[in-house]
Amino acid sequence: VQPVVLAANQPPKFYRGGRRISEFRQLPVTDQHGPPYGSEDWLGSTVSNYGTAVGATRLPDGRLLRDAIAADPVGYLGAEHVAALGANSGLLLKLLDAGERLPVHCHPSRAFARMHLDSMFGKTEAWIVLATDGDEGFVYLGFHDPVSDETLDNWFTAQPPSEILAAMNRISVRAGDAILVQAGMPHAIGAGVFILELQEPTDFSVMLEWKAFGLDSLVESQLGMGGLEALACMDRSAWSSSQLEARFIRRGVVRRGAIEGVFPDDAGGYFRAVAVDSVTTAGLDAGYSILVVLEGAGLITTGDVTMPVSAGSTILIPYGVGNIALSGEFFGVRCLPPDPASFAATQA
Ligand SMILES: [Zn+2]
Repeated sequence: VQPVVLAANQPPKFYRGGRRISEFRQLPVTDQHGPPYGSEDWLGSTVSNYGTAVGATRLPDGRLLRDAIAADPVGYLGAEHVAALGANSGLLLKLLDAGERLPVHCHPSRAFARMHLDSMFGKTEAWIVLATDGDEGFVYLGFHDPVSDETLDNWFTAQPPSEILAAMNRISVRAGDAILVQAGMPHAIGAGVFILELQEPTDFSVMLEWKAFGLDSLVESQLGMGGLEALACMDRSAWSSSQLEARFIRRGVVRRGAIEGVFPDDAGGYFRAVAVDSVTTAGLDAGYSILVVLEGAGLITTGDVTMPVSAGSTILIPYGVGNIALSGEFFGVRCLPPDPASFAATQA
């Protein structure tokens, strides 16, 4: 196994965006008159866009990443990971450029996914804000007052957009902030917010809003169950912005010189992320991971392979390459699958 440079991988999406992904990757920016749009770039993806065959990462040698991992799980993931998660990376990473506000939606928990979707993974996710239009952007997270089943059903049927948004916490975000979005939590990303998104490796989404986004087919059915039935996985309880702030949001944690974990500790059963600065960190331990370089340029060395990296590089690093030496002056985020012991604890 060797480190692999991941090229852009943009399955078609219904919402506007994509310019920031092209700029980040230093590719020509082409205005997209969609839909579909290239508003997401899936990194190290072992899954496909729900109900389609696209989205899975293909390696430069032509193989699907998931097939390469299946052929050499310990080489890619390490024995401890495979013992806990099997031959599954346990991680889906995305660049997401919200060129418009996204619809309010949520994702199922592992328990819901086990019961209804034949999957050991749900889709807890987390965001690292990379940029916003202007100094700050906005996201919507959780209802600020409890929402009854009847109200939620009415919203889903009647689609009053201002009423739904008004019921949610509107939270300002800046580049460097990190936010954990646990399964079930209703959420939406505001216009102009560009994020790096870590997720469990599935494409399970349950939409509360559909009409304004042309998703009319979801009224009858989402995730293979009734449209309303799928909403059973949405958290209708009240969250205050101070509760959300204390439990799920960490401000300014992704910055040069930082060496701490990015997300709250209880995210470790789902994924991990560490800010990496080659000026203050000479090396990284072995581990399946995806390095996203945000600024600067330098080299990574594993075994006898040395690879140049620079802002916009996304590199998949298999466990089997061993320790990773860093040189030059670059800064980025290393994204990792769940800690195997924490993963096992969340399955209990
Ligand atoms: Zn989401």
